[in-house]
Amino acid sequence: MAKLDLNRVSMPRQDPKLRAENFNEVALGYSAEQAKAEASRCIQCPKRACVEGCPVDIDIPGFIGAIRDDDMPEAVRILKDKNSLPGICGRVCPQETQCEVQCALDKKGAPIAIGRLERYVADWERANMKSVGSPVIHPPTPTGKKVAVVGSGPAGLTAAADLAKLGHNVTLFEALHVAGGVLMYGIPEFRLPKEIVQGEVNYVISLGVGLTLDAVIGKTISVDELLSSGYQAVFLGPGAGAPMFLNIPGENLNGVYSANEFLTRVNLMKAYRFPEYDTPVKVGKRVGVVGGGNVAMDAARCALRLGAEEVYIIYRRSEVEMPARREEVENAREEGIQFKLLTNPKRYIGNDQNWVVAMECYQMELGEPDASGRRRPIAIPGSEYIIKVDVAIAALGTRPNPIIPKSTEGLKTSRWGTIIADEVSGQTMKPKVWAGGDIVTGAATVISAMGAGKRAAANIDAYLRG
Ligand code: FAD
Ligand code: SF4
Repeated sequence: MAKLDLNRVSMPRQDPKLRAENFNEVALGYSAEQAKAEASRCIQCPKRACVEGCPVDIDIPGFIGAIRDDDMPEAVRILKDKNSLPGICGRVCPQETQCEVQCALDKKGAPIAIGRLERYVADWERANMKSVGSPVIHPPTPTGKKVAVVGSGPAGLTAAADLAKLGHNVTLFEALHVAGGVLMYGIPEFRLPKEIVQGEVNYVISLGVGLTLDAVIGKTISVDELLSSGYQAVFLGPGAGAPMFLNIPGENLNGVYSANEFLTRVNLMKAYRFPEYDTPVKVGKRVGVVGGGNVAMDAARCALRLGAEEVYIIYRRSEVEMPARREEVENAREEGIQFKLLTNPKRYIGNDQNWVVAMECYQMELGEPDASGRRRPIAIPGSEYIIKVDVAIAALGTRPNPIIPKSTEGLKTSRWGTIIADEVSGQTMKPKVWAGGDIVTGAATVISAMGAGKRAAANIDAYLRG
């Protein structure tokens, strides 16, 4: 048996000092030589456990083998057969807990860099597809069935693409003036460039999907009106975009943002292109971001790039319990973000013009594990201390917006406001209506939303074909 190569090819990245001052992509992508070297490490094991770790069922050994064999059109064909958004997944999918953790080489501490290779193939296609022609699109036979897909995040885009590939007449309805969901308005440019998202949205549209922007389902038109106007099935993927707060004194002071509002201003009002765009987003010198997930890291790193001198992550547990991807915590630390762990705000303090100037925080300790399995944080009495801030950002998670459930007869929701749907098929309690993504699971991941969109599309197709 050939010797295992345990030298994972590392990802070239922008220097931390430079990148802390710009919004350009941090990870620069593999060169052709690096991609081939990484692909050649794959031992093509017959068990294909990595495929089981991928919620959209990509033939991972297949596309990696095609990179190794210099057959890039074939790599693109294999990847896009199952995944319409590979440039996005290759950048932000938590591969380390999905496909890569299943890789046989993971036991040796050097799993194949599946996500990086996926990104390489997607970027290669974008740069070269015109010259080789699309190896992917085969026009399907139209079924004459109409499907409405609500929300153009990863769940909606995946459901729409798969349904269109099966020959259905699909229209995507999106509340905002731009498609992409969190991929466009939440995740910052330096992790996921808007150009990449737009390119993959364009691909979905090129499959024949109609896109109606500025359409708030439940307000502009209801789900029941969609069904009575000729749509034979509706897929709901409106995400979970309503922010949560700490409910502590001072939360309505000026300068206290939800991460959702802060990141939307940065992304959609183009604060990241300052001074070309003069976006109304205050940052100041000192910024405190409360939370320990990807959203908190993104908000903190945006604040740094917009000119803040000191940015703190304020998190009530220790680093071990932080839900953010390891890679992003390391990136944030390298850029100079300061971590105030085992710390939780008690109140925000304002000046006489009602602007936040400080946070009073508790020092915390960890008790027994709670329902989430993580050790419960407990405030230490008398430990309060002051952290001065000019801006505070709460990145505490999000909840579903109730507009659709409230305006739709027969949909059932959980006590958290998520729509109840079958885990496998995505079928809701209302006939002809399916749902998937964050609206069903609560805030989760891009790939879990895509997996839900894919499974629902297969089930809708089976229903429409009787
Ligand atoms: P969304 O992406 O939220 O899309 C829902 C879409 O529906 C939106 O465009 C919304 O405008 C639209 N909509 C809502 N209501 C209506 C309506 N009534 N009518 C019409 N349209 C409507 N996950 C990862 O895997 N990796 C990461 O690195 C990562 N980083 C993240 C960073 C941030 C800042 C955030 C906020 C999330 C991050 N996530 C990450 C989580 C991930 O983005 C979400 O889990 C995923 O986008 C959910 O997909 P979705 O399709 O269910 O919903
Ligand atoms: Fe892995 Fe995500 Fe790509 Fe699937 S989509 S192969 S889980 S990186």
